[in-house]
Amino acid sequence: MDSNEFRKQAHLMVDWMADYMENVEDYPVKSQVAPRDIYEQIHAAIPEQGEKMESIFSDFKKIILPGITHWQNPNFYAYFQANTSPPSILAEMLTATLGVQGMKWETSPAATELEEKMMEWLGDGIGIPEGWAGVIQDSASMATLSAILTAREKRSNYQVNDEGYGGYTNLRVYCSDQTHSSIEKGAKIAGVGKRNVIKIPTNDLLEMRTDLLLEQIEADIAEGFQPLCIVAALGTTGTMAMDPLEAIGKIANDHNIWLHVDAAYAGAAFLLPEYKILMSGIERADSFVFNPHKWLFTNFDCTAYFVKDKKGLLNTFSILPEYLKTASDGLVNNYCDWGIPLGRRFRSLKLWFVLRYYGMEGLQKLLRFHIELAVWMETEINKRPDFELVVPRSMNLICFRYVPKGVDKLEDLNTLNEQLMQKLNAMGKLYLTHTKIHGIYTLRMSIGQTNVAQSHIKNAWKSIKETAVDLTNNNKGE
Ligand SMILES: *Cc1c(COP(=O)(O)O)cnc(C)c1O
Repeated sequence: MDSNEFRKQAHLMVDWMADYMENVEDYPVKSQVAPRDIYEQIHAAIPEQGEKMESIFSDFKKIILPGITHWQNPNFYAYFQANTSPPSILAEMLTATLGVQGMKWETSPAATELEEKMMEWLGDGIGIPEGWAGVIQDSASMATLSAILTAREKRSNYQVNDEGYGGYTNLRVYCSDQTHSSIEKGAKIAGVGKRNVIKIPTNDLLEMRTDLLLEQIEADIAEGFQPLCIVAALGTTGTMAMDPLEAIGKIANDHNIWLHVDAAYAGAAFLLPEYKILMSGIERADSFVFNPHKWLFTNFDCTAYFVKDKKGLLNTFSILPEYLKTASDGLVNNYCDWGIPLGRRFRSLKLWFVLRYYGMEGLQKLLRFHIELAVWMETEINKRPDFELVVPRSMNLICFRYVPKGVDKLEDLNTLNEQLMQKLNAMGKLYLTHTKIHGIYTLRMSIGQTNVAQSHIKNAWKSIKETAVDLTNNNKGE
């Protein structure tokens, strides 16, 4: 493709992108296709002859778009957001154009040095202590795996890396019974073993019980286990519960256990001074992860991973075969030594664009606005006798259910709420997901899409109420 043709095609696509952003609310939020619908429409093999962009792009619209769940639709309240924003998209276009592989400083000094600076900006912004170092990773899962691996290497004096597991078969990782599945996955991959991930029970607010954590650790030590790592969650995926960092940090420090903090979603909100209190105790931790690719308007993937002891991280991951040796080694950061993959995308560019475009004031304004919308929703739910919050609102996450008069049994309420969610999602106007809290089927409404406005929440609430009432009326009619 020559540059004239590229220019023509790119303009067409940018026009399509701008139209998409304008009209994204016209698509059903959750894709309505059936399993295999898309697969069956794709050619069986690589086409023998190259095709025209027009026909590829036309198939994108015809075949692919119906199979898209529109995460950038402001009515997306499911899971946690994976937001993008115009400055992020523009930077991503440049990143793809440059096609840089930023494994070492020499392979693109700007990719390395911008990343170093962006991690300083973010770290200072959210309250990471002085002296820590940050690196961009592809996902919180990868960052948490890195934390467990580094903890393991420091504990074994880098012996597991050298000689394999040997005597280190009694390591244990602790987290609450609410923490993300990535902790268990990390422990499995790191060789700690799923059975050695000990899930500590939680209190009414689904926060880790530190009295039980301490008991468990002491009992484990008495039995010959080696407590390796505690993962504290600031903002669990189910209900955005906040584990008590200060108290957990004290237990970790007293027993010389690595403390990793998973703030994958909520970390963005620590840019707000009013939420910094949740970070108190962070100086007792060893590592911290949060995802700008969730609530900080930077398109997937972009994870910020911070560590107290940069040396431990480098000792765990660095490798230096002959073909990777460069003259600048030792003078600069080579981020291939800061994590698992060798090759690295130039992800700091989109962060730079986003952080500069919005500025601290713009970011804080958006985050606060999302939390205010959640407060509005909470107030509305509290006004209704036939709806209830299952746990109190935390930041911008509402966990609620429908409890109409006359339906009392847990099972019946669970079925009803599942029906309600499926019906709402099938209508395509909004998208919710669920969690279970102490056996209660609970609808989750995460209010944080980049472009969500008061009108969206009002309409969503109206749909939820109407659909719920219809559902009970229909059930009665049966
Ligand atoms: C989303 C999430 C994760 C996983 O994030 P990835 O970047 O997709 O790996 C981990 N922990 C929490 C609390 C999350 O919300």
